[in-house]
Amino acid sequence: MGVIDELLGNNRDFAAGLTERHLDVRPSRRLAIVTCMDSRLDVFAALGLGDGEAHVLRNAGGVITDDVIRSLAISQRLLGTREVMLIHHSDCGMQKVTDDGFRAELQGDTGVAPAFAIESFTDLDADVRQSVLRVRNSPFLPHRDAVRGFVYDVDTHRLREVSG
Ligand SMILES: [Zn+2]
Repeated sequence: MGVIDELLGNNRDFAAGLTERHLDVRPSRRLAIVTCMDSRLDVFAALGLGDGEAHVLRNAGGVITDDVIRSLAISQRLLGTREVMLIHHSDCGMQKVTDDGFRAELQGDTGVAPAFAIESFTDLDADVRQSVLRVRNSPFLPHRDAVRGFVYDVDTHRLREVSG
């Protein structure tokens, strides 16, 4: 049995223990969070958030890509969010590769160079600042004042704000 089958069983138990309810599609805290896909960061638990309260956008590194801007544009323009919280974290996998090295690995294995940017980084704080700037500079986002960047320590569970 694969892990997904196990999770389907977990979901049956989860749903059976809850009463049915419908929440508004618009996040009640009017907040969007962009963070890494890292499996050690439980965003809702770490921030004390509940269902229906915030959008959470995740990718490798918590990078502000065009697709993240696409989601933030939907989040702000259609679904009413106003603040953006960016969270990078210690011991990130994106610090363990280089753009050129990973690109060469992909091209060497497949014969095709990827069209996407790898977006690796070495300096966490510098990358958080760059991410904040990418959000602040996007013409597609109507709400760019309340953008703040943080680093989450995966060992201590603490957030540290990165000043602009
Ligand atoms: Zn990461």
